[in-house]
Amino acid sequence: MSETVDETQERIFTGIPVSHGACTGPLFVVPETAPTRPGDVPQYAISEADLTEQVRRLEEALIKTREQIYALQQKLGDQLGADEARIFDAQLLILDDPTLLEEVMRTMRTKKVNVEYAFAQAADKFAEAFASLSDQYLRERAADVRDATQRVLKNLLQEGEPVDFSRIKTPSILAAYDLTPTQTAQLDKNLILGIATDQGSQTSHSAILARSLGLPAVTGLKDVTRRVRAGQQALLDGYNGQLIVNPSPSTLFEYGQRIRKRRVLDVKLAELREAPAATLDGARVTLSANIESKDEVEEVIRNGAEGVGLFRTEYLFLGRRRLPAEEEQYEAYREVAERLRPHPVIIRTLDIGGDKMIAVHDAAPEHNPFLGWRAIRICLQERDMFRTQLRAILRAAAVGNVKMMYPMISGIDELNQANALLQECKEELRDEGVAFRPDIEVGIMIEVPSAAIQAPALAKRVSFFSIGTNDLVQYTLAVDRLNPRIAHLYEPHHPAVIQLIHRTIRAAHAHDIWTGVCGEMAGDPLMVPLLLGLGADELSAAPRRLPEVKYIIRRLRMEEARQLAHFALSSENSQEVLERAQLLLQRVAPELAEEE
Ligand code: PEP
Ligand code: MG
Repeated sequence: MSETVDETQERIFTGIPVSHGACTGPLFVVPETAPTRPGDVPQYAISEADLTEQVRRLEEALIKTREQIYALQQKLGDQLGADEARIFDAQLLILDDPTLLEEVMRTMRTKKVNVEYAFAQAADKFAEAFASLSDQYLRERAADVRDATQRVLKNLLQEGEPVDFSRIKTPSILAAYDLTPTQTAQLDKNLILGIATDQGSQTSHSAILARSLGLPAVTGLKDVTRRVRAGQQALLDGYNGQLIVNPSPSTLFEYGQRIRKRRVLDVKLAELREAPAATLDGARVTLSANIESKDEVEEVIRNGAEGVGLFRTEYLFLGRRRLPAEEEQYEAYREVAERLRPHPVIIRTLDIGGDKMIAVHDAAPEHNPFLGWRAIRICLQERDMFRTQLRAILRAAAVGNVKMMYPMISGIDELNQANALLQECKEELRDEGVAFRPDIEVGIMIEVPSAAIQAPALAKRVSFFSIGTNDLVQYTLAVDRLNPRIAHLYEPHHPAVIQLIHRTIRAAHAHDIWTGVCGEMAGDPLMVPLLLGLGADELSAAPRRLPEVKYIIRRLRMEEARQLAHFALSSENSQEVLERAQLLLQRVAPELAEEE
Protein backbone atom coordinates (compact mmCIF):
# COMPACT_ATOMS: atom_id res chain seq x y z
CA MET A 1 0.00 0.00 0.00
CA SER A 2 2.91 2.33 0.59
CA GLU A 3 3.77 4.45 -2.41
CA THR A 4 7.17 5.78 -3.37
CA VAL A 5 7.05 9.49 -3.88
CA ASP A 6 9.67 12.14 -4.18
CA GLU A 7 9.26 13.96 -0.88
CA THR A 8 10.36 17.28 -2.37
CA GLN A 9 8.27 17.30 -5.51
CA GLU A 10 5.14 19.40 -5.88
CA ARG A 11 2.01 17.26 -5.57
CA ILE A 12 -1.51 18.50 -6.18
CA PHE A 13 -4.62 17.00 -4.57
CA THR A 14 -8.02 18.18 -5.75
CA GLY A 15 -11.19 18.31 -3.66
CA ILE A 16 -14.17 20.60 -3.11
CA PRO A 17 -13.48 24.29 -2.38
CA VAL A 18 -15.67 25.14 0.59
CA SER A 19 -14.14 28.28 2.01
CA HIS A 20 -12.28 30.92 0.04
CA GLY A 21 -8.73 32.06 0.62
CA ALA A 22 -5.28 30.61 0.22
CA CYS A 23 -2.55 29.95 2.75
CA THR A 24 0.81 28.28 3.04
CA GLY A 25 2.32 26.51 6.01
CA PRO A 26 3.28 23.16 7.47
CA LEU A 27 0.73 20.36 7.63
CA PHE A 28 -0.65 19.00 10.88
CA VAL A 29 -2.17 15.64 10.09
CA VAL A 30 -4.94 14.46 12.39
CA PRO A 31 -4.66 10.69 12.66
CA GLU A 32 -7.86 8.83 11.97
CA THR A 33 -7.66 7.16 15.37
CA ALA A 34 -5.70 7.63 18.55
CA PRO A 35 -5.29 4.57 20.74
CA THR A 36 -7.23 4.13 23.96
CA ARG A 37 -5.01 2.31 26.47
CA PRO A 38 -6.43 -0.16 29.01
CA GLY A 39 -5.52 2.28 31.80
CA ASP A 40 -7.76 4.95 30.22
CA VAL A 41 -10.86 2.79 30.26
CA PRO A 42 -13.29 3.30 33.13
CA GLN A 43 -13.69 0.30 35.43
CA TYR A 44 -16.75 -0.34 37.56
CA ALA A 45 -18.34 -3.31 39.30
CA ILE A 46 -21.36 -5.08 37.82
CA SER A 47 -23.79 -7.59 39.32
CA GLU A 48 -24.87 -10.93 37.84
CA ALA A 49 -28.09 -9.25 36.72
CA ASP A 50 -26.14 -6.65 34.70
CA LEU A 51 -24.36 -9.29 32.68
CA THR A 52 -26.98 -9.66 29.94
CA GLU A 53 -26.95 -5.94 29.26
CA GLN A 54 -23.14 -5.91 29.12
CA VAL A 55 -23.15 -8.78 26.62
CA ARG A 56 -25.76 -7.00 24.53
CA ARG A 57 -23.54 -3.92 24.42
CA LEU A 58 -20.58 -6.02 23.36
CA GLU A 59 -22.59 -7.55 20.55
CA GLU A 60 -23.77 -4.15 19.41
CA ALA A 61 -20.21 -2.79 19.40
CA LEU A 62 -18.99 -5.80 17.43
CA ILE A 63 -21.71 -5.33 14.82
CA LYS A 64 -20.94 -1.64 14.51
CA THR A 65 -17.22 -2.34 14.19
CA ARG A 66 -17.85 -4.89 11.49
CA GLU A 67 -19.93 -2.34 9.58
CA GLN A 68 -17.16 0.24 9.88
CA ILE A 69 -14.54 -2.20 8.65
CA TYR A 70 -16.71 -3.25 5.71
CA ALA A 71 -17.10 0.41 4.80
CA LEU A 72 -13.33 0.93 4.96
CA GLN A 73 -12.78 -2.18 2.94
CA GLN A 74 -15.20 -0.97 0.34
CA LYS A 75 -13.52 2.42 0.18
CA LEU A 76 -10.07 0.93 -0.19
CA GLY A 77 -11.37 -1.57 -2.71
CA ASP A 78 -12.81 1.25 -4.85
CA GLN A 79 -9.55 3.14 -4.76
CA LEU A 80 -6.89 0.46 -4.89
CA GLY A 81 -8.61 -2.76 -5.90
CA ALA A 82 -9.98 -5.75 -4.06
CA ASP A 83 -6.57 -7.30 -3.33
CA GLU A 84 -5.42 -4.37 -1.24
CA ALA A 85 -8.75 -4.28 0.54
CA ARG A 86 -8.21 -7.84 1.71
CA ILE A 87 -5.90 -6.63 4.45
CA PHE A 88 -9.07 -5.95 6.40
CA ASP A 89 -10.08 -9.61 6.28
CA ALA A 90 -7.63 -10.31 9.11
CA GLN A 91 -9.38 -7.71 11.24
CA LEU A 92 -12.79 -9.20 10.55
CA LEU A 93 -11.49 -12.61 11.61
CA ILE A 94 -10.19 -11.16 14.86
CA LEU A 95 -13.66 -9.87 15.71
CA ASP A 96 -14.94 -13.44 15.50
CA ASP A 97 -12.04 -15.02 17.37
CA PRO A 98 -13.45 -17.26 20.14
CA THR A 99 -10.28 -16.96 22.28
CA LEU A 100 -10.69 -13.22 22.52
CA LEU A 101 -14.43 -13.23 23.13
CA GLU A 102 -14.28 -16.03 25.69
CA GLU A 103 -11.58 -14.18 27.58
CA VAL A 104 -13.84 -11.09 27.70
CA MET A 105 -16.76 -13.16 29.01
CA ARG A 106 -14.57 -14.89 31.60
CA THR A 107 -13.21 -11.58 32.90
CA MET A 108 -16.71 -10.12 33.19
CA ARG A 109 -18.07 -13.19 34.98
CA THR A 110 -15.22 -13.81 37.40
CA LYS A 111 -14.12 -10.26 38.16
CA LYS A 112 -17.62 -8.75 37.87
CA VAL A 113 -16.36 -5.80 35.87
CA ASN A 114 -17.92 -3.76 33.05
CA VAL A 115 -17.59 -4.85 29.46
CA GLU A 116 -15.28 -2.09 28.20
CA TYR A 117 -12.81 -2.79 30.97
CA ALA A 118 -12.93 -6.55 30.38
CA PHE A 119 -12.56 -6.00 26.65
CA ALA A 120 -9.58 -3.64 26.98
CA GLN A 121 -7.77 -6.14 29.21
CA ALA A 122 -8.46 -9.11 26.97
CA ALA A 123 -7.53 -7.22 23.80
CA ASP A 124 -4.25 -6.12 25.28
CA LYS A 125 -3.36 -9.69 26.27
CA PHE A 126 -4.36 -10.96 22.86
CA ALA A 127 -2.19 -8.41 21.03
CA GLU A 128 0.77 -9.11 23.34
CA ALA A 129 0.46 -12.81 22.59
CA PHE A 130 0.79 -12.14 18.86
CA ALA A 131 3.61 -9.65 19.33
CA SER A 132 5.74 -12.22 21.13
CA LEU A 133 5.49 -14.91 18.42
CA SER A 134 8.63 -15.85 16.49
CA ASP A 135 6.93 -16.07 13.09
CA GLN A 136 7.20 -12.63 11.51
CA TYR A 137 3.93 -12.85 9.61
CA LEU A 138 2.00 -13.73 12.75
CA ARG A 139 3.89 -11.13 14.76
CA GLU A 140 2.69 -8.47 12.36
CA ARG A 141 -0.91 -9.49 13.01
CA ALA A 142 -0.57 -7.82 16.43
CA ALA A 143 -1.08 -4.51 14.64
CA ASP A 144 -4.33 -5.82 13.15
CA VAL A 145 -5.48 -7.00 16.55
CA ARG A 146 -4.79 -3.57 18.02
CA ASP A 147 -6.51 -1.80 15.17
CA ALA A 148 -9.65 -3.93 15.25
CA THR A 149 -9.97 -4.03 19.03
CA GLN A 150 -9.45 -0.27 19.29
CA ARG A 151 -12.45 0.21 17.07
CA VAL A 152 -14.56 -2.05 19.26
CA LEU A 153 -13.41 -0.20 22.34
CA LYS A 154 -14.25 3.19 20.90
CA ASN A 155 -17.67 1.94 19.93
CA LEU A 156 -18.20 0.57 23.43
CA LEU A 157 -17.13 3.87 24.92
CA GLN A 158 -19.20 5.71 22.30
CA GLU A 159 -16.39 8.11 21.66
CA GLY A 160 -15.04 9.59 18.51
CA GLU A 161 -11.34 9.64 17.94
CA PRO A 162 -9.64 11.68 20.65
CA VAL A 163 -6.83 13.71 19.15
CA ASP A 164 -4.39 15.82 21.11
CA PHE A 165 -4.68 19.15 19.35
CA SER A 166 -2.39 20.77 21.89
CA ARG A 167 0.46 19.26 19.85
CA ILE A 168 -0.09 22.02 17.29
CA LYS A 169 2.55 24.54 18.29
CA THR A 170 3.01 26.60 15.13
CA PRO A 171 0.33 27.89 12.75
CA SER A 172 -0.49 24.92 10.52
CA ILE A 173 -2.79 23.64 7.83
CA LEU A 174 -4.94 20.97 9.40
CA ALA A 175 -5.33 17.82 7.32
CA ALA A 176 -7.97 15.50 8.78
CA TYR A 177 -10.14 12.61 7.73
CA ASP A 178 -13.09 14.73 8.79
CA LEU A 179 -13.48 17.03 11.73
CA THR A 180 -16.26 16.20 14.11
CA PRO A 181 -18.00 19.11 15.81
CA THR A 182 -16.45 17.94 19.07
CA GLN A 183 -12.98 18.14 17.55
CA THR A 184 -13.57 21.53 16.02
CA ALA A 185 -14.63 22.71 19.44
CA GLN A 186 -11.18 21.77 20.78
CA LEU A 187 -9.08 23.57 18.19
CA ASP A 188 -7.00 26.61 19.03
CA LYS A 189 -8.30 28.65 16.14
CA ASN A 190 -5.25 30.95 16.17
CA LEU A 191 -3.00 28.09 15.20
CA ILE A 192 -5.04 26.91 12.22
CA LEU A 193 -4.24 28.44 8.82
CA GLY A 194 -6.63 26.32 6.80
CA ILE A 195 -8.50 23.03 6.79
CA ALA A 196 -8.18 20.13 4.35
CA THR A 197 -10.27 17.00 4.83
CA ASP A 198 -10.65 13.62 3.18
CA GLN A 199 -14.41 13.65 3.69
CA GLY A 200 -16.98 16.41 3.93
CA SER A 201 -18.76 18.79 1.59
CA GLN A 202 -20.02 22.38 1.36
CA THR A 203 -22.16 22.11 4.46
CA SER A 204 -20.18 19.76 6.67
CA HIS A 205 -19.23 21.23 9.97
CA SER A 206 -15.56 21.56 9.00
CA ALA A 207 -16.69 23.76 6.12
CA ILE A 208 -19.00 25.86 8.25
CA LEU A 209 -16.29 26.29 10.86
CA ALA A 210 -13.73 27.30 8.24
CA ARG A 211 -16.04 29.88 6.72
CA SER A 212 -16.92 31.29 10.08
CA LEU A 213 -13.22 31.63 10.89
CA GLY A 214 -12.47 33.07 7.46
CA LEU A 215 -10.04 30.22 6.81
CA PRO A 216 -9.49 28.60 3.44
CA ALA A 217 -10.83 25.06 3.35
CA VAL A 218 -11.01 22.19 0.93
CA THR A 219 -12.99 19.04 1.66
CA GLY A 220 -13.51 15.76 -0.19
CA LEU A 221 -9.77 15.21 -0.77
CA LYS A 222 -10.37 11.43 -0.55
CA ASP A 223 -7.39 9.79 1.16
CA VAL A 224 -5.08 12.78 1.33
CA THR A 225 -4.34 12.30 5.03
CA ARG A 226 -2.72 9.00 4.18
CA ARG A 227 -0.64 10.50 1.37
CA VAL A 228 0.94 13.43 3.18
CA ARG A 229 3.13 13.73 6.24
CA ALA A 230 2.96 16.06 9.18
CA GLY A 231 5.42 18.92 8.82
CA GLN A 232 5.44 18.98 5.00
CA GLN A 233 5.05 22.47 3.52
CA ALA A 234 1.80 22.96 1.69
CA LEU A 235 -0.38 25.53 -0.01
CA LEU A 236 -4.11 25.31 0.46
CA ASP A 237 -6.20 26.90 -2.29
CA GLY A 238 -9.73 27.40 -1.09
CA TYR A 239 -10.71 29.05 -4.39
CA ASN A 240 -10.03 26.11 -6.66
CA GLY A 241 -10.18 23.31 -4.11
CA GLN A 242 -6.55 22.24 -4.14
CA LEU A 243 -4.01 21.17 -1.59
CA ILE A 244 -0.54 21.57 -3.06
CA VAL A 245 2.18 19.82 -1.11
CA ASN A 246 5.74 21.12 -1.59
CA PRO A 247 4.59 24.03 -3.81
CA SER A 248 7.19 25.16 -6.37
CA PRO A 249 8.44 28.79 -6.39
CA SER A 250 6.34 29.59 -9.47
CA THR A 251 3.19 28.22 -7.81
CA LEU A 252 3.91 30.30 -4.74
CA PHE A 253 4.38 33.39 -6.94
CA GLU A 254 1.07 32.87 -8.72
CA TYR A 255 -0.77 32.54 -5.43
CA GLY A 256 1.05 35.58 -4.07
CA GLN A 257 -0.49 37.65 -6.90
CA ARG A 258 -3.94 36.35 -6.15
CA ILE A 259 -3.65 37.03 -2.44
CA ARG A 260 -2.50 40.60 -3.16
CA LYS A 261 -5.59 41.23 -5.33
CA ARG A 262 -7.76 39.93 -2.55
CA ARG A 263 -6.17 42.31 -0.07
CA VAL A 264 -7.11 45.28 -2.26
CA LEU A 265 -10.70 44.06 -2.27
CA ASP A 266 -10.62 43.55 1.51
CA VAL A 267 -9.79 47.22 2.00
CA LYS A 268 -12.85 48.20 -0.08
CA LEU A 269 -15.02 45.80 1.92
CA ALA A 270 -13.83 47.16 5.25
CA GLU A 271 -14.89 50.67 4.20
CA LEU A 272 -18.49 49.46 3.94
CA ARG A 273 -18.72 48.39 7.56
CA GLU A 274 -21.12 51.16 8.64
CA ALA A 275 -22.93 51.50 5.31
CA PRO A 276 -26.49 50.14 5.11
CA ALA A 277 -27.23 46.93 3.22
CA ALA A 278 -29.40 48.55 0.56
CA THR A 279 -29.60 47.98 -3.17
CA LEU A 280 -28.92 50.77 -5.68
CA ASP A 281 -32.67 51.34 -5.91
CA GLY A 282 -33.08 51.60 -2.16
CA ALA A 283 -34.36 48.16 -1.07
CA ARG A 284 -33.14 47.47 2.43
CA VAL A 285 -32.15 44.01 3.68
CA THR A 286 -31.12 43.04 7.20
CA LEU A 287 -27.69 41.45 7.43
CA SER A 288 -27.19 39.26 10.47
CA ALA A 289 -24.54 36.86 11.62
CA ASN A 290 -24.47 33.15 12.35
CA ILE A 291 -22.52 32.29 15.49
CA GLU A 292 -21.74 29.19 17.45
CA SER A 293 -20.43 30.62 20.69
CA LYS A 294 -20.34 33.80 22.70
CA ASP A 295 -16.68 34.23 21.75
CA GLU A 296 -17.74 35.31 18.27
CA VAL A 297 -19.49 38.50 19.32
CA GLU A 298 -16.41 40.61 18.49
CA GLU A 299 -16.43 39.19 14.97
CA VAL A 300 -20.12 40.03 14.63
CA ILE A 301 -19.49 43.65 15.55
CA ARG A 302 -16.31 43.93 13.49
CA ASN A 303 -18.12 42.80 10.36
CA GLY A 304 -20.98 45.24 10.76
CA ALA A 305 -23.78 42.71 11.36
CA GLU A 306 -27.15 43.99 12.53
CA GLY A 307 -27.50 41.26 15.12
CA VAL A 308 -27.39 37.49 15.19
CA GLY A 309 -29.74 35.63 12.86
CA LEU A 310 -28.70 32.19 14.07
CA PHE A 311 -27.06 31.34 17.38
CA ARG A 312 -26.30 27.61 17.15
CA THR A 313 -26.46 26.53 20.76
CA GLU A 314 -25.19 22.97 20.28
CA TYR A 315 -21.67 24.05 21.05
CA LEU A 316 -22.56 24.59 24.68
CA PHE A 317 -23.50 20.93 24.83
CA LEU A 318 -20.88 19.18 22.73
CA GLY A 319 -17.88 17.34 24.12
CA ARG A 320 -19.12 17.38 27.72
CA ARG A 321 -20.03 14.78 30.24
CA ARG A 322 -22.90 16.73 31.78
CA LEU A 323 -25.59 18.93 30.28
CA PRO A 324 -25.00 22.64 30.81
CA ALA A 325 -27.18 23.89 33.67
CA GLU A 326 -29.78 26.65 33.24
CA GLU A 327 -27.49 29.19 34.87
CA GLU A 328 -24.58 28.47 32.54
CA GLN A 329 -26.81 28.68 29.49
CA TYR A 330 -28.44 31.84 30.75
CA GLU A 331 -25.03 33.47 31.22
CA ALA A 332 -23.94 32.57 27.68
CA TYR A 333 -27.16 33.83 26.07
CA ARG A 334 -27.34 36.91 28.29
CA GLU A 335 -23.78 37.94 27.49
CA VAL A 336 -24.36 37.78 23.73
CA ALA A 337 -27.70 39.58 23.99
CA GLU A 338 -26.33 42.29 26.25
CA ARG A 339 -23.29 42.98 24.09
CA LEU A 340 -25.31 43.22 20.90
CA ARG A 341 -28.25 45.16 22.32
CA PRO A 342 -30.35 46.78 20.76
CA HIS A 343 -29.73 44.43 17.84
CA PRO A 344 -31.68 41.18 17.91
CA VAL A 345 -30.13 37.82 18.75
CA ILE A 346 -32.05 34.80 17.48
CA ILE A 347 -31.26 31.80 19.63
CA ARG A 348 -31.95 28.47 18.00
CA THR A 349 -32.91 25.73 20.41
CA LEU A 350 -30.79 22.64 20.50
CA ASP A 351 -30.13 20.94 17.16
CA ILE A 352 -28.26 17.79 18.07
CA GLY A 353 -28.48 14.48 16.28
CA GLY A 354 -27.56 14.07 12.60
CA ASP A 355 -23.81 14.53 12.70
CA LYS A 356 -23.74 16.27 16.08
CA MET A 357 -23.93 13.81 18.91
CA ILE A 358 -23.62 14.68 22.55
CA ALA A 359 -22.43 12.28 25.20
CA VAL A 360 -25.31 12.90 27.53
CA HIS A 361 -28.17 11.41 25.60
CA ASP A 362 -28.45 7.76 24.89
CA ALA A 363 -28.25 7.77 21.13
CA ALA A 364 -28.36 4.28 19.68
CA PRO A 365 -26.77 4.04 16.22
CA GLU A 366 -29.24 4.92 13.48
CA HIS A 367 -29.29 3.91 9.84
CA ASN A 368 -30.23 7.40 8.68
CA PRO A 369 -29.18 9.83 11.41
CA PHE A 370 -30.27 12.92 9.46
CA LEU A 371 -33.72 11.39 9.12
CA GLY A 372 -33.72 10.17 12.67
CA TRP A 373 -33.67 11.35 16.22
CA ARG A 374 -32.63 14.93 15.73
CA ALA A 375 -33.22 18.50 16.94
CA ILE A 376 -36.80 19.27 17.99
CA ARG A 377 -37.60 15.54 17.95
CA ILE A 378 -35.05 14.94 20.70
CA CYS A 379 -36.10 18.03 22.62
CA LEU A 380 -39.76 17.01 22.64
CA GLN A 381 -38.76 13.70 24.22
CA GLU A 382 -35.94 14.85 26.49
CA ARG A 383 -38.22 17.40 28.05
CA ASP A 384 -36.17 18.30 31.08
CA MET A 385 -33.22 19.13 28.89
CA PHE A 386 -35.44 21.24 26.64
CA ARG A 387 -37.15 23.04 29.51
CA THR A 388 -33.79 24.02 30.96
CA GLN A 389 -32.85 25.64 27.69
CA LEU A 390 -36.22 27.35 27.21
CA ARG A 391 -36.03 28.83 30.70
CA ALA A 392 -32.51 30.13 30.08
CA ILE A 393 -33.61 31.75 26.80
CA LEU A 394 -36.72 33.32 28.33
CA ARG A 395 -34.59 34.82 31.08
CA ALA A 396 -31.96 36.16 28.69
CA ALA A 397 -34.76 37.78 26.71
CA ALA A 398 -35.52 39.98 29.71
CA VAL A 399 -32.05 41.51 29.33
CA GLY A 400 -31.54 41.88 25.58
CA ASN A 401 -33.39 41.75 22.28
CA VAL A 402 -33.63 37.96 22.22
CA LYS A 403 -35.88 35.99 19.89
CA MET A 404 -35.91 32.23 19.60
CA MET A 405 -36.54 29.62 16.95
CA TYR A 406 -37.05 25.87 16.79
CA PRO A 407 -35.05 23.80 14.29
CA MET A 408 -36.31 20.96 12.09
CA ILE A 409 -40.00 21.72 12.47
CA SER A 410 -41.87 19.48 10.06
CA GLY A 411 -45.44 20.55 10.78
CA ILE A 412 -47.94 22.17 13.12
CA ASP A 413 -47.88 19.46 15.78
CA GLU A 414 -44.26 19.87 16.71
CA LEU A 415 -44.66 23.62 16.83
CA ASN A 416 -47.67 23.32 19.13
CA GLN A 417 -45.93 20.89 21.44
CA ALA A 418 -42.84 23.07 21.70
CA ASN A 419 -44.98 26.13 22.37
CA ALA A 420 -46.92 24.29 25.05
CA LEU A 421 -43.66 23.55 26.85
CA LEU A 422 -42.60 27.14 26.42
CA GLN A 423 -45.84 28.24 28.00
CA GLU A 424 -45.25 25.94 30.98
CA CYS A 425 -41.77 27.38 31.43
CA LYS A 426 -43.19 30.90 31.43
CA GLU A 427 -45.68 29.93 34.12
CA GLU A 428 -42.97 28.33 36.23
CA LEU A 429 -40.75 31.39 36.00
CA ARG A 430 -43.69 33.64 36.83
CA ASP A 431 -44.51 31.53 39.90
CA GLU A 432 -40.87 31.62 40.96
CA GLY A 433 -40.74 35.39 40.55
CA VAL A 434 -37.83 35.16 38.08
CA ALA A 435 -37.49 37.90 35.48
CA PHE A 436 -38.22 36.81 31.90
CA ARG A 437 -39.81 38.14 28.73
CA PRO A 438 -43.36 36.82 28.37
CA ASP A 439 -43.88 38.12 24.83
CA ILE A 440 -40.65 36.75 23.37
CA GLU A 441 -40.90 36.41 19.58
CA VAL A 442 -40.88 32.79 18.47
CA GLY A 443 -40.01 31.69 14.96
CA ILE A 444 -39.21 28.44 13.25
CA MET A 445 -36.58 27.24 10.88
CA ILE A 446 -37.88 26.11 7.53
CA GLU A 447 -35.52 23.33 6.62
CA VAL A 448 -37.78 20.34 6.06
CA PRO A 449 -39.73 20.36 2.77
CA SER A 450 -43.00 19.56 4.56
CA ALA A 451 -42.64 22.79 6.52
CA ALA A 452 -42.06 24.79 3.34
CA ILE A 453 -45.14 23.20 1.79
CA GLN A 454 -47.15 23.96 4.91
CA ALA A 455 -45.71 27.45 5.22
CA PRO A 456 -49.12 29.18 4.95
CA ALA A 457 -50.40 27.26 7.99
CA LEU A 458 -47.21 27.74 9.95
CA ALA A 459 -46.98 31.45 9.13
CA LYS A 460 -50.21 32.05 11.08
CA ARG A 461 -48.60 30.71 14.22
CA VAL A 462 -45.13 32.24 14.39
CA SER A 463 -43.43 35.63 14.38
CA PHE A 464 -40.89 34.84 11.67
CA PHE A 465 -39.34 32.17 9.48
CA SER A 466 -35.67 31.48 9.00
CA ILE A 467 -34.88 29.22 6.06
CA GLY A 468 -32.16 26.69 6.82
CA THR A 469 -31.05 25.97 3.30
CA ASN A 470 -28.31 23.53 4.35
CA ASP A 471 -30.92 21.05 5.41
CA LEU A 472 -33.65 22.18 3.05
CA VAL A 473 -31.41 21.34 0.09
CA GLN A 474 -30.39 17.99 1.54
CA TYR A 475 -33.96 16.94 2.30
CA THR A 476 -35.50 18.29 -0.89
CA LEU A 477 -32.96 16.71 -3.22
CA ALA A 478 -32.29 13.63 -1.03
CA VAL A 479 -28.58 14.47 -1.10
CA ASP A 480 -26.65 13.88 2.11
CA ARG A 481 -25.01 17.22 2.89
CA LEU A 482 -21.88 15.48 4.17
CA ASN A 483 -21.22 12.97 1.43
CA PRO A 484 -18.44 14.12 -0.94
CA ARG A 485 -19.35 11.50 -3.52
CA ILE A 486 -22.60 13.22 -4.29
CA ALA A 487 -21.48 16.78 -3.57
CA HIS A 488 -22.04 17.65 -7.24
CA LEU A 489 -25.75 16.89 -6.73
CA TYR A 490 -26.06 19.26 -3.80
CA GLU A 491 -27.52 22.25 -5.63
CA PRO A 492 -29.00 25.16 -3.67
CA HIS A 493 -29.94 26.69 -7.02
CA HIS A 494 -32.05 23.68 -8.03
CA PRO A 495 -35.47 24.90 -9.24
CA ALA A 496 -37.22 22.66 -6.67
CA VAL A 497 -35.35 24.33 -3.83
CA ILE A 498 -35.98 27.78 -5.28
CA GLN A 499 -39.70 27.04 -5.50
CA LEU A 500 -39.83 25.97 -1.83
CA ILE A 501 -37.98 29.11 -0.76
CA HIS A 502 -40.35 31.22 -2.81
CA ARG A 503 -43.39 29.48 -1.37
CA THR A 504 -42.10 30.07 2.17
CA ILE A 505 -41.42 33.76 1.65
CA ARG A 506 -44.73 34.34 -0.10
CA ALA A 507 -46.64 32.68 2.74
CA ALA A 508 -44.76 34.73 5.31
CA HIS A 509 -45.47 38.00 3.57
CA ALA A 510 -49.13 37.10 3.14
CA HIS A 511 -49.27 36.84 6.95
CA ASP A 512 -47.18 39.93 7.56
CA ILE A 513 -44.20 38.16 9.01
CA TRP A 514 -40.62 38.36 7.79
CA THR A 515 -38.38 35.62 6.44
CA GLY A 516 -34.64 35.26 6.81
CA VAL A 517 -32.25 32.80 5.25
CA CYS A 518 -29.60 31.42 7.57
CA GLY A 519 -28.15 28.46 5.64
CA GLU A 520 -24.82 28.76 3.83
CA MET A 521 -26.66 29.95 0.75
CA ALA A 522 -27.15 33.35 2.42
CA GLY A 523 -23.40 33.96 2.42
CA ASP A 524 -22.74 32.64 -1.07
CA PRO A 525 -22.05 35.59 -3.44
CA LEU A 526 -23.69 33.78 -6.33
CA MET A 527 -26.90 33.14 -4.44
CA VAL A 528 -27.33 36.52 -2.73
CA PRO A 529 -29.04 38.28 -5.68
CA LEU A 530 -31.33 35.29 -6.16
CA LEU A 531 -32.42 35.30 -2.50
CA LEU A 532 -33.05 39.04 -2.63
CA GLY A 533 -35.08 38.61 -5.79
CA LEU A 534 -37.15 35.93 -4.05
CA GLY A 535 -37.98 38.47 -1.35
CA ALA A 536 -35.78 37.44 1.60
CA ASP A 537 -35.98 40.12 4.30
CA GLU A 538 -32.87 39.04 6.16
CA LEU A 539 -29.69 37.18 5.26
CA SER A 540 -27.70 35.62 8.05
CA ALA A 541 -24.23 34.24 7.38
CA ALA A 542 -20.86 33.67 9.00
CA PRO A 543 -19.67 37.12 10.16
CA ARG A 544 -16.72 37.14 7.78
CA ARG A 545 -18.96 36.54 4.79
CA LEU A 546 -21.03 39.63 5.49
CA PRO A 547 -18.80 42.33 3.98
CA GLU A 548 -18.92 40.54 0.59
CA VAL A 549 -22.66 40.08 0.87
CA LYS A 550 -23.12 43.76 1.59
CA TYR A 551 -20.78 44.73 -1.28
CA ILE A 552 -22.97 42.76 -3.69
CA ILE A 553 -26.25 44.13 -2.34
CA ARG A 554 -25.01 47.71 -2.64
CA ARG A 555 -24.07 47.21 -6.30
CA LEU A 556 -27.29 45.46 -7.26
CA ARG A 557 -30.63 46.76 -8.54
CA MET A 558 -33.64 45.02 -7.07
CA GLU A 559 -35.16 44.84 -10.50
CA GLU A 560 -32.35 42.63 -11.84
CA ALA A 561 -32.48 40.44 -8.70
CA ARG A 562 -36.21 39.92 -9.31
CA GLN A 563 -35.59 39.07 -12.94
CA LEU A 564 -33.11 36.40 -11.87
CA ALA A 565 -35.60 34.99 -9.36
CA HIS A 566 -38.32 35.02 -11.98
CA PHE A 567 -36.06 33.14 -14.37
CA ALA A 568 -35.16 30.56 -11.69
CA LEU A 569 -38.80 30.00 -10.79
CA SER A 570 -39.75 29.26 -14.35
CA SER A 571 -36.63 27.23 -15.06
CA GLU A 572 -36.63 23.46 -15.40
CA ASN A 573 -32.90 23.07 -15.09
CA SER A 574 -30.44 23.98 -12.35
CA GLN A 575 -27.49 24.54 -14.68
CA GLU A 576 -29.16 27.45 -16.44
CA VAL A 577 -30.06 28.99 -13.08
CA LEU A 578 -26.43 28.80 -12.06
CA GLU A 579 -25.27 30.34 -15.33
CA ARG A 580 -27.71 33.25 -14.97
CA ALA A 581 -26.58 33.79 -11.38
CA GLN A 582 -22.96 33.81 -12.56
CA LEU A 583 -23.70 36.36 -15.26
CA LEU A 584 -25.36 38.67 -12.79
CA LEU A 585 -22.53 38.38 -10.27
CA GLN A 586 -20.04 39.01 -13.04
CA ARG A 587 -21.82 42.26 -13.84
CA VAL A 588 -22.35 43.36 -10.25
CA ALA A 589 -19.09 42.32 -8.59
CA PRO A 590 -16.57 40.97 -11.10
CA GLU A 591 -13.84 40.72 -8.42
CA LEU A 592 -15.99 38.24 -6.50
CA ALA A 593 -17.17 36.38 -9.59
CA GLU A 594 -13.52 35.71 -10.42
CA GLU A 595 -13.10 33.90 -7.13
CA GLU A 596 -16.10 31.64 -7.63
C1 PEP B 1 -29.44 24.90 7.92
O1 PEP B 1 -29.83 23.73 7.93
O2 PEP B 1 -29.38 25.61 6.90
C2 PEP B 1 -28.95 25.52 9.17
C3 PEP B 1 -28.68 26.80 9.22
O3 PEP B 1 -28.79 24.70 10.24
P1 PEP B 1 -27.52 23.73 10.47
O4 PEP B 1 -26.52 24.02 9.38
O5 PEP B 1 -27.00 24.05 11.82
O6 PEP B 1 -28.14 22.38 10.35
MG1 MG C 1 -30.24 22.77 9.80
